Amino acid sequence: MKSADIAIGGGGMIGLATALDLAATGRKVTVFDRGEAMSEASRAAAGMLAGNDPENPPELQPLSRLSLALYPDFLARVEDLSGKKIPIRTTSTLQGVRYLPHGATSLSDAEMQSLAPRANTSGWSFFLIEERSLDAWDLAESLPAAVRAAGIDLREHISVLRARGENGGVELETTAGSFPAGSFLNAAGAWASAIHGPLPVAPRKGHMLTAVLPGPVQMHCVLRTPRVYIVPRGSGRYTIGPTVEDAGFDKEVDPERIQALFHKAIELWPVLQNASIAETWTGLRPGSGDGLPIIDETADRCWIATGHFKNGIMLGPGTGRVLRQWIDGSQPEVDLSPFRIARFASPVAAS
Ligand SMILES: Cc1cc2nc3c(=O)[nH]c(=O)nc-3n(C[C@H](O)[C@H](O)[C@H](O)COP(=O)(O)OP(=O)(O)OC[C@H]3O[C@@H](n4cnc5c(N)ncnc54)[C@H](O)[C@@H]3O)c2cc1C
Repeated sequence: MKSADIAIGGGGMIGLATALDLAATGRKVTVFDRGEAMSEASRAAAGMLAGNDPENPPELQPLSRLSLALYPDFLARVEDLSGKKIPIRTTSTLQGVRYLPHGATSLSDAEMQSLAPRANTSGWSFFLIEERSLDAWDLAESLPAAVRAAGIDLREHISVLRARGENGGVELETTAGSFPAGSFLNAAGAWASAIHGPLPVAPRKGHMLTAVLPGPVQMHCVLRTPRVYIVPRGSGRYTIGPTVEDAGFDKEVDPERIQALFHKAIELWPVLQNASIAETWTGLRPGSGDGLPIIDETADRCWIATGHFKNGIMLGPGTGRVLRQWIDGSQPEVDLSPFRIARFASPVAAS
């Protein structure tokens, strides 16, 4: 096998967004995925770019801001390289909360009814967030093609087993043999511990479904509370989620959980009583326990980026940018200290 300046283990959003940023500076990049690229958490996502979700930990703000600022160029580049469109599906979110955050203005009943007709607002105050969403399946179709078109060597169905520093570089052990590289990034999502373990990252399972509502489209913005979200996809299709479960690496769809989720959505937006369930699926978010990613240098020339939990689609371009800066030896433009592994030396709150 031929060597690379940078080898990446994991072809999800984090690995591929970082690969694209590194390749733009002329680096020779190889990405290994143990299955198909963009087939795990990154394909399962609802695709909300929810940098201003009041549930996000405050320490996430600077990286969220950077990532959201990079998003238009990131999408344009992926579209140019892949020749495939990634339409923005929604541009605003109706966020329900028990208590309004500082500075937010509650929407009136009339405003709510015009944006989400017949929404059941009882017990919630809603405010409007300027926030976009895309369909993660669109991204999953385009991003691997874009990566290949950018000259990145994407090798599927090969697992990285280990990485160790050797002769000023890194020697990878993979299921297809050894592979020498200048540097290594572990971006294996919920599986990151298998390459570099043990790490404080674990799978957090999420059930999702798509409901189809016949007739004219009745809602154009995301309707979200801390219990459930409804994300319009166009043509009367609505993605509904999520559950957050500790179920190890199990990815089975549980019909009872799907029904419970659908009922929560109907309770929030009774219009969905007339909808039918078209698709169901699950995904394994990489969760670090405190809701923040782990972005760090773990050994000489070895980095890790995992634990993006509920926000890895939104945080992809920003994570790629700061990692490229760090790997290049320049100062990352966001303070990464909240994301260092060392924070787990002291007890952490469960998320
Ligand atoms: C139900 C659900 C809803 C979500 N909704 C949103 C949302 O609305 N907005 C948002 O921003 N985020 C959302 N997320 C979170 C987001 O999907 C994740 O944070 C993000 O996809 C993580 O990306 P990743 O690249 O780290 O992991 P993954 O996408 O899981 O990629 C990891 C890759 O590593 C590969 N791999 C594993 N082990 C190895 C190995 N040893 N060698 C080589 N490759 C390996 C895997 O095959 C996989 O392709 C959601 C997630 C779920 C599950």
